Parts: sequence; C-alpha cells; structure tokens
Amino acid sequence: MTSAPAAAGTGALARYEAVIGIEIHCQLKTASKMFCACDTQIEGAEPNSHCCPVCLGLPGTLPTINKSAVEWVIATGFAIDGEVATTTRWDRKNYFYPDIPKGYQISQYQLPLVANGKLTFDTSEGPFTVRVRRAHLEEDTGRLIHEDRDGRRVSLARRSLIDFDRSGMPLMEIVTEPDIRTAEQARRYAEELRLLMRTIGASDAEMENGQMRVEANVSIRPIGREAFGTRVEVKNMNSMRAVERAIAFEIERQAELIDGGGAVHMETRGWDDPSQSTYHMRPKEEENDYRYFPEPDLPPLTTTPEWLAAIKARLPELPAVRRTRYQTEFGLSGYDASVLVNDLASTALFEGALAAGEGVPAKLLANWVTGEYMRLVKGEESGGSADPVQLAALVKLVADGAISGTNAKEVFAEHFATGRVVAAIVEARGFRQISDAGALGTAVDEVLAANPAAVADYRAGKGAAVGFLVGQVMKATRGQANAAMVQTALRERLAKTE
Ligand code: ADP
Ligand code: ZN
Ligand code: MG
Repeated sequence: MTSAPAAAGTGALARYEAVIGIEIHCQLKTASKMFCACDTQIEGAEPNSHCCPVCLGLPGTLPTINKSAVEWVIATGFAIDGEVATTTRWDRKNYFYPDIPKGYQISQYQLPLVANGKLTFDTSEGPFTVRVRRAHLEEDTGRLIHEDRDGRRVSLARRSLIDFDRSGMPLMEIVTEPDIRTAEQARRYAEELRLLMRTIGASDAEMENGQMRVEANVSIRPIGREAFGTRVEVKNMNSMRAVERAIAFEIERQAELIDGGGAVHMETRGWDDPSQSTYHMRPKEEENDYRYFPEPDLPPLTTTPEWLAAIKARLPELPAVRRTRYQTEFGLSGYDASVLVNDLASTALFEGALAAGEGVPAKLLANWVTGEYMRLVKGEESGGSADPVQLAALVKLVADGAISGTNAKEVFAEHFATGRVVAAIVEARGFRQISDAGALGTAVDEVLAANPAAVADYRAGKGAAVGFLVGQVMKATRGQANAAMVQTALRERLAKTE
C-alpha cells in the first residue's frame, strides 16, 4: 500500500513545475456511423443490434466517409481558430485487440483535418490560452463487457463479452501542445472545450457516458529547467472533478517518486475514483508499434473553399464572443457573464426570455437566471425547469413593482417545480402587490392604531421602530404591500401626529 499524496500544490509545486498535454476524444453527433450507414442511437439498445459488415470489419467490405462527421471537425477547427486542411488523408493505425475486429482503426496521422488552433478560458489566476496541436477524425472501437447486466462478473468461464454497437462511431480526437501547467488549467480547458462542442452542436460531450473522454499526459521538471520530464498518460477520468484530482495526484506521485531517488517511466495509468488515486494499467505504446500507413480503401479528401465557407457561416455565436457581448451590451460583470455563458441551459433561458418579453431588463433577468434559476437547478428541486416566456413575465412584474421580490421567488419556485404559468400562480396566491395608496393607507392606519407602544418609541427618538411597523403592515397584507410605499406612508403619518 502506498499512502495518498497530499493535496495538489502543497509540496510538489514548490520545487517542480508540471507540464501537461490533454488528448480529448469526442463522439460526434451524426445520424450514422463514421464509415457505414448504421444508426448511432445505440443507448439502451440490445448489444450488437446496430452493426453491419462494415463496422464489424468483415473482409471484402469498404468504408464510406460520413460527411457530417467531417463537417463537425471542420467546424471545431474554425471554433478554435485553427487551420483547416485543404487536403486530408486517412491512415490505418494497426493493433490487435478483441474490440477492434479489423485489426486496425481508420484514423488520421500525418494530415489531420485541423492543426494549430487555440482555446482561451478563465482560471482562478486569470485568462489562459492553450495551443491545440491538431484535431482529427477516427472511428471508435467496440466495447468489452466484463460483467453481465446484473453487475455480476461474467468470468465464470473466464470469458468477456463484446458489444460492437460502438464500433465505427465517429470520434474526433483533439490534442493540445504541452502548454498546461496546473491541474486547474487542465480541468478548465476540458470544460471550455466541452462547452464549445455543445455550443456548436458537434457533440453532447457527456463524460459520464463516454461521449467525451479526457486523457492527460503529465510530467514534472525542476523549476527553472527547460527540458521536459518523462510523461505518464492518465485515463479513465469520468468527470471534470476527476480530471483535476487525477492530475494533482499524479504531480504529487511523480514528485515523491523522484525525491525518493526513483524515476518516472512512460506508462498508461488509470484513475480510480473510489481511492482517489492512479494505478498502473500498461506500458505506453510507442508510435511505431502502430505501423501507421495510408488507408488504401479511402482516397484523400479535398475541402473546397466554398464548402469551408458554408460550414463557417453556420457557426453560432461562440462562448468567448458571447461573454464579451453580455458585458458590453447588458452591462453584466465579467463574472456574471461567465456564469451565464458557461452553462448552456442558462444561456438558452436568458436568451429565450429576452426574446420573449419586450422591455425585460436584461441585468435583472441575468440575476434571476444566475441566482434563483441556478439555485433551483442545483438544489433538491432539480428535475424541474423554467420556461423563458414565464421567466420574462415574472421579471417584468418584479421590475414594475407589481410583486415583491420575496413573493416572486416563491412564484418562480412553483413554476419551476410544476410548470404552472406565472400569472396563474400570482393570482392563486394573491401576490399582486398592493400599490394602491388608498388600500395601503387603511392598512397603515390599522397597524398604527394597534401598536401604540411602537408609535411611542418612534416619538421617543427610536427611528428603528419604523422597521417594526413596516413589518406589521407587510404581515397584515400577507406580503402584498409595496414596502417602499408603506415606509413613506408610515413616516408621513408619524410626522403628522407628532
Ligand atoms: P502520443 O503518441 O502519446 O499520442 P503525442 O506526441 O501525440 O504522443 O502527445 C500526446 C500529448 O502529450 C500531447 O498533448 C502533448 O502535448 C503531450 N506531451 C508530450 N510530451 C509531454 C511531456 N513531456 N509532458 C507532458 N505532456 C507531454
Ligand atoms: Zn455498420
Ligand atoms: Mg496521440
């Protein structure tokens, strides 16, 4: 047993600098697989129900390129400000494994579709830019299953099962330069890339179900030294939190190893979430082990300027542009703009409500989305949802002073949980704010008559007594009184009787 290294940054980072490069695989959102017509909707399906001779790798079959998969990679190239190839080629990456029936994977080696991009994102230490070396297309492998559906291992007869439904699914691999220096930067890079994938629609990029797989190459070097140390590849991180933890663990592990007189060896390690540590999986394959060579069954692919221009024109507003626009157009703080833009559901709600309600104050609306909406989504009420039209209506009621802030929160919570429309909830709860001077005056008079002690306190110079009286009026009107108007009415009357 080795003891778990201390948390990131406590020891190792005082003496060593980490060097990190990230490889991310994203499953692209296409109707059919990468090189055949098989349906990509395989979730929950019977194993091996979505395969054909092509994705099963049977002899005599020929691959056909999926155009939309190519377009998603090109779109990604534009979104990361990269160079999109005018000519690209396919290569065979040869290796034997039971989940790869052909004995090779069709990938891209020397001429990737995209090269030399970059991604800038916020970290706790300010903005940070990572250079993206390349983005290329390849096909996924099948899936080995070592357990039956009840979670029991199927190895009674020392056997494993293979589901080839995932075989031939379109994958984009995105590789960074070794620019990253901390575990946090690595997590933030992966989060920003995930947001970008979802924004442009290239991938749903859910880590939990393998649509997005993050691998980190981690090495350390003494502070001040230029040469990189030997790197270790870490896989199997199933969440963004795991990415950060795994890298932090690895930095500490390598530092302790070197400090103890040992050396880091090239290896692939896995992240084990229960023990929050990495473990040795296998020695790292060398590039020449794959015996790459040009795929003879596919011709090189040429991208015409017209095609590229059309793909570029279809790109939606990108997160970085949107963050800046929210600050300049709506006066949001950089922080609020990020909170809003970093969550796609929040962005959609905000944009939808702006479009739905004319004259909805954007800044107030943004506060509702980043405040109440996000609180409800994270809280136990989650499972609910907010309708942009209804949120716009509610925020307008608040802005017009027609409903109190406290009551508005109750209305929103009910809408979120039940989907009921805002007007009906306000009506049913009797939340329409009383801003009618006559009705308010009566309530104020009644409270003054019922609370002579507080009135006396006020006259004796205890200004705070007004607060108590306001509270009484709010109570008497079940929160419906316009608090500002109550204040004014109370002060007027108290001044008169003095
Ligand atoms: P592989 O053959 O393992 O795919 P690559 O040369 O493609 O190797 O690099 C994979 C990743 O490892 C890239 O993101 C790269 O930036 C990163 N990398 C390369 N050298 C180092 C190093 N010494 N320390 C950390 N990361 C590195
Ligand atoms: Zn198929
Ligand atoms: Mg690689």
